[in-house]
Amino acid sequence: MIEVNSFALGGWHAPGAGASLIYSAIHGREIARAGGAALDFQDMLDHAKSVGGPALRKLTFHDRAKMLKALAQYLGERKQALYDLSFDTGATQKDHLIDIDGGIGTLFVFASKGRRELPDAHVYLDGPPELLSRSGTFQGQHIATPLQGVAVHINAYNFPVWGMLEKLAPTFLAGVPAIVKPATASCYVTEACVRMMLESGLLPDGALQLVCGRTGDLLDRLDGQDVVSFTGSAATATMLRATPSIAQNSVRFIAEQDSLNGAVLGPDATPDALEFDIFIKEAVREITAKAGQKCTGMRRLLIPENLIDPAREALVAKLATITIGDPRHEDTRMGALISADQKQDVLAKISKLESEAERVFGDLTTMDLLGKDTAPDAFVPPILFQCNNPDAAVEAHRTEAFGPVATLMPYRDIEHASHLLNKGGGSLVASLFTHDVGTAKAMVMSSGAFHGRLYINNRDSAKEATGHGSPLPHMVHGGPGRAGGGEEMGGIRGVMHYMQRTAIQGSPQMLSAIGETWIPGAPEISHDAHPFTRTFHELDLGETFNSDSRKVTLEDIEHFAHFTGDTFYAHMDEEAAKANPFFPGRVAHGYLLLSFAAGLFVQPDPGPVLANTGLDNLRFMKPVQAGDAIKVRLTVKRKTLRNDEYGEVRWHVTLTNQDDDTVAEYELLTMNAV
Ligand code: NDP
Repeated sequence: MIEVNSFALGGWHAPGAGASLIYSAIHGREIARAGGAALDFQDMLDHAKSVGGPALRKLTFHDRAKMLKALAQYLGERKQALYDLSFDTGATQKDHLIDIDGGIGTLFVFASKGRRELPDAHVYLDGPPELLSRSGTFQGQHIATPLQGVAVHINAYNFPVWGMLEKLAPTFLAGVPAIVKPATASCYVTEACVRMMLESGLLPDGALQLVCGRTGDLLDRLDGQDVVSFTGSAATATMLRATPSIAQNSVRFIAEQDSLNGAVLGPDATPDALEFDIFIKEAVREITAKAGQKCTGMRRLLIPENLIDPAREALVAKLATITIGDPRHEDTRMGALISADQKQDVLAKISKLESEAERVFGDLTTMDLLGKDTAPDAFVPPILFQCNNPDAAVEAHRTEAFGPVATLMPYRDIEHASHLLNKGGGSLVASLFTHDVGTAKAMVMSSGAFHGRLYINNRDSAKEATGHGSPLPHMVHGGPGRAGGGEEMGGIRGVMHYMQRTAIQGSPQMLSAIGETWIPGAPEISHDAHPFTRTFHELDLGETFNSDSRKVTLEDIEHFAHFTGDTFYAHMDEEAAKANPFFPGRVAHGYLLLSFAAGLFVQPDPGPVLANTGLDNLRFMKPVQAGDAIKVRLTVKRKTLRNDEYGEVRWHVTLTNQDDDTVAEYELLTMNAV
């Protein structure tokens, strides 16, 4: 019997009086005990806020991203132990890949996005500065800083590892400590994963605490710096959302709850089209993976009226090949539901669906698969319904049987299909199998607002498509209305759920210092030495080099034109250039100006500048003609250390003419030795 502990205030706490028994999904016998530990939730919140939060906030985004990567590696090396435990949840080895490897993969993606898309700093800049005054002495900048509270994660039973890690990755990247409350039915797997993370020594004290069992008065103690992120049933979400302190203190509440996801077979996807086979394969996978216990699972299969018979026949033929049984056996394709209780819940929902749809596949009399055992098991075979009047149906659009259950529905045209999809009242994902862009566009316009994700698959993408049911760390996971109204992941968007956006207003000097990024108008620093002779660490933000000026001649323009082959009329033909409303006559090539700029600012000797790695946000603002003189201002805008040997320097570059008018502006990226 596993004693599932909670982790609070730096110590493990064994189950206490009133602990719940947890049963194996496979043989129904008791395997673990959880809950009932005497936890002081106020002390846990205080510990997270006073110890975990400050330690995490001291780190930069890049430090935290590196921490996520190291955690992912650490868990990756120990995942076999998590696989071994997870079989008792009814999951097969393939299901473990979704849950355990999927969770670790999510940490890796956030680690990498954190280092590529967030600064090596403490403050996130949300967009460019806003000019709020005529001469630029007063400007605005939206920033985001970590919330100073705690993220309370309440997770569903179906993904004990991924469900935790997909929430922890953006939370830790934001710099916020977490208290995780896993669903009791599978909390022994989550606890094992938490033990690994804590034993790794990679997390600061107070960053992660675990509550197995009830949350007591935890939610009553939250305030406006805290966030609740919930996954589970709509009923529980509604109940928790109504906690008075959550409304009174404007506690952020992110909910991701049951959703009647739909999949549409496109009108063009006839049985001879590849899209038909792709659809059938994905639908069977969605019905059977995790025994259908996926928040994104396809519950409603929308089929063109004229294709309903072949679609049903193909699905039935494939579902008949699914072997159900002990998930530890290699030939098992589908395991069990999490528990005998969940099985009863699914059977009750099957009865509801049966009131308005015909069961076309699935024999409920074959359920006692491990009949030799006396304990109740949790196996349910795949069940396929067909509902011939989906417009009149009610249960088919609102009853989520959280198991291997789906309902076929005929539709007339894509507008009708969208209408039926939308009857789900908001879902996490809807998918479309078509090779016709018109069909896809029509569906996006008529049902995009009802779904958090639209997945379109066809012969061009099938080989690499990640699947209707796979939420990806890069993409938003969540949905409107019935799906909970929340959003998770979505790349850096997910990190922002744990940060506060603040509009900072002040002088450019203030904004530069706060954002750790120089902006035009802030003080410029000059040194005797050329900035290209100074190492990454020696360079200061705002350090500026002003070049000499250089006259641009007609010979320069013609030489450049013939040398590069760019003899575009605006550079070579005075008459034609004059007829163009943008030019006063022949003008210098923009790329000639960039080349001259480099010639004006580089310091040619070998030195700390290792490479020019790119150029961002280039704008040509005013034409340059023969006879004009240009000069360059080069300023260190931002520095990002990449490793022990070099870092990236982002330079703000401005080209001006003899009248000090800006003719071009851009950001130059170089790699500089430390
Ligand atoms: P629940 O809504 O019952 O539980 C979800 C989480 O909330 C669990 O961690 C649960 O803990 C916790 N919880 C329940 N009551 C409270 C409370 N009063 N205070 C604090 N936390 C609480 O969902 P289940 O996991 O049991 O699944 C039930 C149904 O939810 C499924 O049949 C399915 O329809 C739906 N579901 C939807 C998912 C989705 O993502 N769309 C995912 C999983 C489930 P505990 O386990 O200890 O009760």
